[in-house]
Amino acid sequence: CAQAPARLAGVEEFLASRGVEVAWRETLHPDPAPNEPITPVVCRLCLRLARAVTAVLRDGAVPLVLGGDHSIAMGTWRGVTEAAGAPIGLLWIDAHLDAHTHQTSHSGRLHGMPLAALLGQGGEGLCAERAVLQPQHVCVVGARSFEPEEAALLAALGVRVYSMREIEQRSLKAVLEEALARVRGGTAGYGVSIDLDAVDPADAPGVTTPVPHGLRGEALSAVLGELAGGAPPLAVEIAEFDPHRDIGGVTARLVLQLAASLLAAAKTVKGPSALELERRCGAANYDPLPVVLVRGSGIHVWDEAGRRYLDFMSAYSALSLGHAHPRILAALTAQAGRLALTSRAFYNDRLGGFLAKLCGAIGMDRALPMNTGMEAVETALKAARKWAYQVKRVPRGRAEIIACEGNFHGRSIAITAMSTEAQYRRGFGPFPGGFRLVPFGDAQALERAITKRTAAFLAEPIQGERGIVVPPPGYLARCAEICREHDVLFIADEVQTGLGRTGRMLACDHEGVKPDGLVLGKALGGGMLPVSAFLAREDVMAVFRPGDHGSTFGGNPLAAAVGIATLEVLDEERLPERAARLGARLMAGLQAIDSPLVREVRGKGLLVGVDIDPARASARRVVDALLARGVLSRDTHGSVVRLAPPLVIGEEDIDFAVEALRAALAVVQSGG
Ligand code: PMP
Repeated sequence: CAQAPARLAGVEEFLASRGVEVAWRETLHPDPAPNEPITPVVCRLCLRLARAVTAVLRDGAVPLVLGGDHSIAMGTWRGVTEAAGAPIGLLWIDAHLDAHTHQTSHSGRLHGMPLAALLGQGGEGLCAERAVLQPQHVCVVGARSFEPEEAALLAALGVRVYSMREIEQRSLKAVLEEALARVRGGTAGYGVSIDLDAVDPADAPGVTTPVPHGLRGEALSAVLGELAGGAPPLAVEIAEFDPHRDIGGVTARLVLQLAASLLAAAKTVKGPSALELERRCGAANYDPLPVVLVRGSGIHVWDEAGRRYLDFMSAYSALSLGHAHPRILAALTAQAGRLALTSRAFYNDRLGGFLAKLCGAIGMDRALPMNTGMEAVETALKAARKWAYQVKRVPRGRAEIIACEGNFHGRSIAITAMSTEAQYRRGFGPFPGGFRLVPFGDAQALERAITKRTAAFLAEPIQGERGIVVPPPGYLARCAEICREHDVLFIADEVQTGLGRTGRMLACDHEGVKPDGLVLGKALGGGMLPVSAFLAREDVMAVFRPGDHGSTFGGNPLAAAVGIATLEVLDEERLPERAARLGARLMAGLQAIDSPLVREVRGKGLLVGVDIDPARASARRVVDALLARGVLSRDTHGSVVRLAPPLVIGEEDIDFAVEALRAALAVVQSGG
């Protein structure tokens, strides 16, 4: 690094003449203390470089890093990965493999190690102490001088190395095309790191370790420019320039030419957006509305352009307290800094208090903490089966659980076994047995389906995902009665309806029903963490023995602290009562909308579905029109618009949303 030029003469003028708008940001020099060994000095330099590179990318520009020693790559690509926030690919153009570790290096020189360090190998004490790059996204091009240990390491990791011999056989263009496809596939973008000794000494004499029979400078510059035209790099690094050996300034000119070829392509292209990255690097198991949210506070969220929206989705009812509730935020941050996770291998000082408060607030004997709703439902299923064998004496392996048609309890394989939704099941079988289904809302059908082997009846008090389907009055009370008569557990899944959403603490409270088992989730995490629980009667929970069931994160002190704060806020801000009052206002407002598109408005409290006549319009079109009016909602099952704002919402915002829906329906009706 000490041999790096203070500044490559004429770089700005040359790039400007090629149409690249360029600004010199910073020249970084090593800052060794007297007699300090080289490794920590280089490491510090690389960290500064990484920060500078990240800042350039965040400014929307493309970093061009001109270096001395190739060890600077540890800084450059760390900075690019940090800014991309996702895996990146790298074209490493070099005569060497730079894949030594401290253990295998013959010379101990750091410039022989950066690629290994970036791949997370032997970088102890270097700034890339963990893997920055993934081997399948890295290609080395032009290699012709290396030790067997380096080649063995890269081969073992699965890095593709294109030797000079392969390039001569297949052509530089064919090789670079293939390499580019590899480094781009499944990444947030790619970078190019050129060690000038990849180039033949005739075209680039000004390098630290010239190696004969290399790439031709002109050809490399031309092919890179052509390929980058279709796929511009995120960043470019050119290293190992030694001005003292650069007879006639040939190498300096090549540096400028390479930089211009690569950057002329990159300059017009901004980095991929968050939406593009999610689509490119994620799985397509969701189909989000095309809005990228960046901030939330109370009942509002903001998108990238600073547009404000009313959140009428509340993350499927998980945001009952709204976004960033100050009490939850304070509890979360205080506990996170004190003790976040212990596992259940030990006691922690928050879980007991949380469980006691939860059982007290709900009126249940015991609670078993989990994280997601699905896990708490699984817990309920396991409890019911074991209870059936141990307490009810159902023959081993024969217990049955009755669920409702149109249910939604999550997406594990066992839960999917209960689903009547073809898409949820298609392609995921085989499923475990032991489940029976009855029509939702029909208590007599439940009674007919019960046998001596029935362990439990599991139901949502209101079917949320199905489209806010409310059963006939008295249904829950009758089901609970039938279950009691037949010694069957009545388990309510109140993951969505619980904790005040429908205007009472539990939706079961509307009918004075006390379930034997209860599943809570979503809102229990205060809109910040996954916190769920299975609550039950003493004799049901008593079936669990140490080792029967568990979860590493379930019941962690951070979740417990957030859960306690959530229950306090629900109580102090009287959110169930508020949901009842504002829910009535929302329902009245919606029912007053006179639109031929609306077949029915149904729900309880602040869980409301507007059923759109599919013969006239899709719910998705209404949702899109609402989005354009600053209200976020989602369609469910193609025909229902779900309206479920945070329970902390006020009258004016309810009225605003009602008016927005009225306007959205009018626009959709008129074909707009
Ligand atoms: N049960 C019900 C009633 C739900 O609505 C949901 C989620 N929509 C779940 C369980 C599953 O919860 P999670 O997504 O947290 O696993």
